[in-house]
Amino acid sequence: MGIASGDPLHDRVLLWTRLVKDAMANDGGMAPADVELEWVIAKDAELKDPVKSGVAVARVEDGHAVRVDVAGLEARTTYYYAFRVGGVQSAVGRTRTLPAPNTPVDTIRFAVASCQNWQDGYYTAHAHLAKEDIDFVLFLGDYIYDEALKDTAVRPHDGNPPQTLDQYRRRHALYKTDPNLQAVHAAHPWIAIWDDHEVSGNYASQFAIDIPSPTEVVARRAAAYRAYWEHVPVRSKAPSGPSMQLYRQFVIGDLARLVMLDGRQYKSRPPCDGRIRRACEGRDDPSLSMLGDAQEKWLVDSLGSSTEKWRLLGNNVMMAPLLYASITNNDQWDGFTSERQRLLDAFAKNNDIVVFTGDLHATLMCELHQDPNDPTSKKVGIEVVGTSISSGSPDGRLDLITHAATRLPHIKYANENARGYVLCELTPDHLSVALRAVNTVAERTADIQTVASWKIGRGSSLVAA
Ligand code: FE
Ligand code: CA
Repeated sequence: MGIASGDPLHDRVLLWTRLVKDAMANDGGMAPADVELEWVIAKDAELKDPVKSGVAVARVEDGHAVRVDVAGLEARTTYYYAFRVGGVQSAVGRTRTLPAPNTPVDTIRFAVASCQNWQDGYYTAHAHLAKEDIDFVLFLGDYIYDEALKDTAVRPHDGNPPQTLDQYRRRHALYKTDPNLQAVHAAHPWIAIWDDHEVSGNYASQFAIDIPSPTEVVARRAAAYRAYWEHVPVRSKAPSGPSMQLYRQFVIGDLARLVMLDGRQYKSRPPCDGRIRRACEGRDDPSLSMLGDAQEKWLVDSLGSSTEKWRLLGNNVMMAPLLYASITNNDQWDGFTSERQRLLDAFAKNNDIVVFTGDLHATLMCELHQDPNDPTSKKVGIEVVGTSISSGSPDGRLDLITHAATRLPHIKYANENARGYVLCELTPDHLSVALRAVNTVAERTADIQTVASWKIGRGSSLVAA
């Protein structure tokens, strides 16, 4: 019985478990029968004084995964929860609700994480993330990797890229066996979006580099989305075939609106098939979209109606330009410049925007300018590109991104050699961010250090702290 919680609101939180006897077996080694279990949530860690409890059914068709959306909770309150089945109790998880909309909030703390490639390293950073004093984890995608077995794996996993629901379930179940990942889920609620590797590398809607047939991409999506829904506590209806609405927003008192985006499901086939290319044609094609029309409109409306002090975006791939001698990564927003311009113009009408981004396996602090090609144009936001938990080069040094970034005036910091997460503290006046990096992910345990700190002020000011 794993545990997790997610998508806290001011009055509710989603609790998750999945019953397995053998995580790596098809159907988790469970008999083909639904199982009733109890859940309980309390203000004390001993669960002596439950505030809510109930019965839920672990259904065969859900792989015996269970999601309980517990409502009627108090705002900005820490709760503890567990599941019980057949006289056995799960570990006790801790979770926390958000402040109520329109109420004054002086501080909120969260951590930004993404990209936990099992084969690239241990979840050394997660052991530290579990101990941080935060309200929630913001997870920006690449929860699992669809990859095949790699020769260079720090810790190999089984077999080939998943294709079927059983195979995606097994990949999720494998990742969930990691004790440090379990500890982070038990310690904090998550607010998560996906990126590409939950399905297939650099996929976009019906296109994927490694899957020639669009029909097969759609079939892969249906299996992968279903497995994601079964394993990651996001408040979404069960996927309908290859479709699942993931984009959603959170209001954090009067302090912030947090908008979580889906940059894969509706994404156009990217220019140059999303590869890294010099002078890629089609980058400025106005018909290309990362978000799709409906989501773009929803985002612009959400920003326009926000009365909170800050507007935070959870975004999968880098938004600020990252050009090196006219070479761009066309899977990023650099391949979708028309839509990016529409968003930057919308940002210009709504102050105090911070975009949080995953995917890159590097940490970058960037100014977003209304004209992305003119660093003297109006600053319309700040982008914080988080690092990876484990993905990328485990310990060897890389300098490609750093080399490009040092030539770009809107990028104030770049570091692609730190595995860890970004710790954030938001107040009415400032967002303080600290890059927390472990010494290695090639070992199960390692120390962690703060290797850079920045302070973002209202009006998109960005200074080293
Ligand atoms: Fe990644
Ligand atoms: Ca990615």
